[in-house]
Amino acid sequence: MLTTVTAGPYTIRGASVAGIQTSLLVRELGALFDVGFAARSLAGAEHVFLSHGHADHCGALVSLLGMRGLMRMPPPRLFLPAELADSVRGALELFSRGQRYELQINAEPMLPGDERELRPDLHVRAFRTHHTGPSLGYQFFTRVPKLKPQYIDLPGREIAVRRKRGDDLFDYEERLELAYATDTLLRVIDTMPSLLDTRVLILECTFLDERKSLTASNAGGHVHLDELLERASSFRNEALVLMHFSQMYPPAEVHQILARRCPPELHKRIVVLAPNSGPWPG
Ligand SMILES: [Zn+2]
Ligand SMILES: [Zn+2]
Repeated sequence: MLTTVTAGPYTIRGASVAGIQTSLLVRELGALFDVGFAARSLAGAEHVFLSHGHADHCGALVSLLGMRGLMRMPPPRLFLPAELADSVRGALELFSRGQRYELQINAEPMLPGDERELRPDLHVRAFRTHHTGPSLGYQFFTRVPKLKPQYIDLPGREIAVRRKRGDDLFDYEERLELAYATDTLLRVIDTMPSLLDTRVLILECTFLDERKSLTASNAGGHVHLDELLERASSFRNEALVLMHFSQMYPPAEVHQILARRCPPELHKRIVVLAPNSGPWPG
């Protein structure tokens, strides 16, 4: 039922259909993006990231926490738009009361630009997306130490001595590893231009041809392939993972349309998050 794809060094497992359900696990980051459905194989993620409050993106949170309780797992760190924190806490309280078992989270309410450490070598930054209510995307990065230019010619021994002494020897360079942007206008690549240079970009592309007009697509706060193709040469990502397709396109057709419409230079870097054949899952 779930699709597994590889994008750069990352494995992405899950399913995403617009208005129906979106849950994607990136194993290497211990990150689950949205909880539109709960599945045993996704429930172990250390960190959960909610993009916004629509039911197809967060409606299965209660089920996910129930599964984690059964597996005796600790509460997940749950990153979500700050505006939603009270509603989510309130909903979990009501469900906890109903089932007489507490559904616990470690909530991390986020505002655009907020950063958090996930592991000593991994950080996340929230960014504004453009949808119909409060919504966020998430960008993951590492910080790599680089010797400051004035120290580059120092011998290794001397660097070790100064390091021990606590001298400030390094600048830190960010490596943009992966970003998740769903339920957004394509304008997100202008308001967060570093998405175009992030190694792997997971981006929604809900509508793919004339069966939905660009105007109607944008009115719902979604990306249309027409506008993405106009910007094709701006995407410098190693992999561009497209997802959140409308159910009006059967999965096999999604693959066909993208193969037909995308220029080869872009198409070879596109990873389609949809089954190769058959119906949409669920
Ligand atoms: Zn959606
Ligand atoms: Zn939505």
